[in-house]
Amino acid sequence: MPDFKPNKILYTPDALNPNGLRIADQYPDAGRTPIKQHNRLPEVDLPHYKAKSDLLVLGRLKSKEIKYSGRSSDFIAPSLANGCFGGCAYCYVDRHKKLNPITVFTNTDEIMAAVDKHVMALPWPRTPNQTDPIYYTYDIGCNSDIAVDYAISPGIHDVFQFYKDHERAKATFATKFINSEMLEFDPARKIRIRFSLMPAEISRLVDVRTDSIEKRLQAINDFYAAGYEVHVNFSPVIVYDRVRGIERDWEEDYRELFQQLNAAVSPEVKKQMQCEVIFLTHNEWQHVANLQINPKAEELLWLPAIQETKRSSYGGINIRYQHQLKAQMINTFINLLTEEIPWCGIRYIF
Ligand code: SF4
Repeated sequence: MPDFKPNKILYTPDALNPNGLRIADQYPDAGRTPIKQHNRLPEVDLPHYKAKSDLLVLGRLKSKEIKYSGRSSDFIAPSLANGCFGGCAYCYVDRHKKLNPITVFTNTDEIMAAVDKHVMALPWPRTPNQTDPIYYTYDIGCNSDIAVDYAISPGIHDVFQFYKDHERAKATFATKFINSEMLEFDPARKIRIRFSLMPAEISRLVDVRTDSIEKRLQAINDFYAAGYEVHVNFSPVIVYDRVRGIERDWEEDYRELFQQLNAAVSPEVKKQMQCEVIFLTHNEWQHVANLQINPKAEELLWLPAIQETKRSSYGGINIRYQHQLKAQMINTFINLLTEEIPWCGIRYIF
């Protein structure tokens, strides 16, 4: 994981609680500038900074809304951060931002209190579902990469401890980074990491500044041994068929990826591992931006001949694989997975 050393910290005054100060004090050489709103940065004053490597924003999360999910988890917990130092070509977190530095929310105590209140109001014992047989599950990393946030904010350690100790709640997050500091924490299987996987050659094109697929595969057994539950997240599944520059097709590549996963993980890890599968959703605005910054990736992501549009609930135009073709793709994926890694249950696929 890259070493993050911001040289400018932008903060809202209400973010400088003890947790915010602990974060800021880790970067004594960084200049500090107060701002009015963490989500409206003074762009004009920041022309010489690289948003993702030079800047860190500290804010206080005001809306602590908890949303129903039913897919990766029962619920989406309030964000602990927004953005990461990756620059994945399909990332929805950065989709609508002109300036996209990592923003860490320092009021983790208020966020944990909101989750506690929410979960304690739910019926108990809970009815088992695909997200977990026992606990209510909360996705804590929908707008950032928690492995990155863990390296920046000591508050994330407190959040891990909260879920570890909670009698009803369990945390989960997907990641594309290996943060070995996290191995020093034993979450007693109350935190589920979902390592994101895709064919390595494709990942090198579209997963910008993340840890490699090889590293993610190698890390799985270590995180399980440290006490995490470890699942995998096949997301996004990108469909390609000997398009320019790629000499293979997605089916061959996923077979190989499943074989790599099968070879990498121990029998003990296989017993508890499940996966989730999400085919690519792209976005028209992002397509236009990517043509400037990552055109090679865009050749894989933007294939109008096999895609259809859908207006997103946030107003943008999203692009996804055509309905009937996608049904076939899903069948193909399930067949490949069943042939190569039958031990890996699919929690959901769409
Ligand atoms: S690692 Fe995750 S949060 Fe970061 S840019 Fe990639 S998809 Fe977005």
